[in-house]
Amino acid sequence: MAGNKRPLPMRLRRLITLSVAGALVIGVTGLFGLPKLLSEHVAQLPDSIQNIADQVQAKPVTIFDPPKYSIDEAGSIWAVVNKQRQISPLKYKPSRLSYPTFPKPKIQNPYGLQLRTEAALAAEQLAASMQEAGLGNLILNSGFRTYKNQQGLYNRTKDTRGLAVAEKLSARPGHSEHQLGLAADFSVQGEGCVIMVCFGKTEAGAWLAENAHQQGFIVRYPRGYKAITGFQYEPWHFRYVGVELATEMKVKAIATLEEFWSLESAPDYAAPAG
Ligand SMILES: [Zn+2]
Repeated sequence: MAGNKRPLPMRLRRLITLSVAGALVIGVTGLFGLPKLLSEHVAQLPDSIQNIADQVQAKPVTIFDPPKYSIDEAGSIWAVVNKQRQISPLKYKPSRLSYPTFPKPKIQNPYGLQLRTEAALAAEQLAASMQEAGLGNLILNSGFRTYKNQQGLYNRTKDTRGLAVAEKLSARPGHSEHQLGLAADFSVQGEGCVIMVCFGKTEAGAWLAENAHQQGFIVRYPRGYKAITGFQYEPWHFRYVGVELATEMKVKAIATLEEFWSLESAPDYAAPAG
């Protein structure tokens, strides 16, 4: 058999041809495909970093599932009170109330109002942030109200302006966030529109809507959500829910507590007005 050069069997030749062709294909793909592949990865990199940044910024959802605090108990900073959700216990009064310490108390707290201590501290910080932003003095126009205060306010409005107006403008006693000590009606010195819808259009009002979450406040009755919250737009009424929840709502662009907690909308009271 020596010296007898037999041609390679047909199968083997085919295999070699296929291998060479395959190697060529891989080589060409490698040469031209690799840079493309690389550039795709590079292009994706900023996105991936952005995703990580987003995840870091947005607090993990698990904090809220199950909720860290109750949304039912009046003593919880996450308590949800609306026309369908009465304060429980009905005549609840917060155990810790404080006068916010503002640099100019006579201007900034002209009515000598209190808030729940956490909310009072947050209001002080919010006032300081406003000053830093060059937007002047934050003013507290309404804070904690007792059940009786709210009853008086509601009845006065009812007596002077009629039941329909009272129902529209003031919460029934036992249904006001002010009774929780966690609601604050703000205005800003020199901006005007005190307790008026136009406050939302002032520079300070717009700044508050955009930044108050950093101190744990939300605009509780945003524009266009009356069917859910039961109240018309109130750009002055801020609700303290803590930085964690306020930031989570901002990041997720969820405007109301009802939507955040998947609660029923509360356009009206369960019982007719008496
Ligand atoms: Zn209010």
